[in-house]
Amino acid sequence: MQGLVTKSTGSWYQVVTPEGERYDCRIKGKFRIKGLTTTNPVAVGDVVDFEMEPEQGTAVITNLHPRKNYIIRKSINLSKQAQIIAANLDQAILVVTLASPRTSLGFIDRFLVTAEAYDIPARLVFNKLDLFSDEGLEVLQAYKDIYENIGYPCHEVSALEGTNIDDIKALLKDKVTLFSGHSGVGKSSLINRLLPDLDLRTHEISEWSDKGMHTTTFAEMFDLPGGGFIIDTPGIRELGIIDIEKQELGHFFPEMRERMHNCRFNNCRHINEPGCAVLEALEEGVIEPSRYDSYLSIYNGNDTRA
Ligand code: GDP
Ligand code: ZN
Repeated sequence: MQGLVTKSTGSWYQVVTPEGERYDCRIKGKFRIKGLTTTNPVAVGDVVDFEMEPEQGTAVITNLHPRKNYIIRKSINLSKQAQIIAANLDQAILVVTLASPRTSLGFIDRFLVTAEAYDIPARLVFNKLDLFSDEGLEVLQAYKDIYENIGYPCHEVSALEGTNIDDIKALLKDKVTLFSGHSGVGKSSLINRLLPDLDLRTHEISEWSDKGMHTTTFAEMFDLPGGGFIIDTPGIRELGIIDIEKQELGHFFPEMRERMHNCRFNNCRHINEPGCAVLEALEEGVIEPSRYDSYLSIYNGNDTRA
């Protein structure tokens, strides 16, 4: 039988079949993922094959289907090990606010770079629309111009008043969507609008220690009433950005990626090299200064996550 893993505790996995039947499964044997040592070989979002063991009355996962992407968190204790938080994400949404609290452009860019590195299409949802003054609406437009020009769709909502929530519902239909955002942006309020029956506070991803050896991710996907799933994660800080090689960083800025092949040197860092097509585009105003600043900041290892 085949199914989708919708809940993982590290030792038990809830698997849902296409017909909607739920099974509690365990893992038999070892699944290894090339190039990555993980504390949990199977994660929410994984498609697996499983078999019933009639004598035990339990179900066992026997095969893991190839993933189109996955997100990891670096283990705190064992630096070489990673935890897979979720697999096969269709999209990632960052909830952003312009005030109380203000999401910085650096934070947004870091999230988008992470999504690019994970190969997950990303969108921005600006929340607390009800608080925006005329001036705030101008800032919103400026932000939207920056990100929509690069190809990241932007949406504006008020979780408090319910404005444009139906648009978000339509985006989520039949998709597996990761929600992220720093504390206070209204992520829980928004998710509660989308999943009215869920009390998120009781469903946060938590870690627990297994025999004092590993920290294990407990993650869950939530069924959307109209079809599709939501995965809630804490801020991207918790996600543990994939180790990005400095030479590769430009690839995760789509507007730089487009131009880099025109740089005079094929190992151009886009910092001060002559004939750099990225610097030219920056000078022409084609690349946004704030985006380039984020590039430099991440390149130099500065923390722009605040
Ligand atoms: P989280 O930390 O991102 O999960 O944020 P919460 O959902 O807990 O919301 C943080 C605060 O912002 C709470 O006081 C909410 O009532 C408030 N809030 C959430 N969404 C909105 C909104 O659309 N408009 C306004 N004015 N306040 C909101
Ligand atoms: Zn260059």
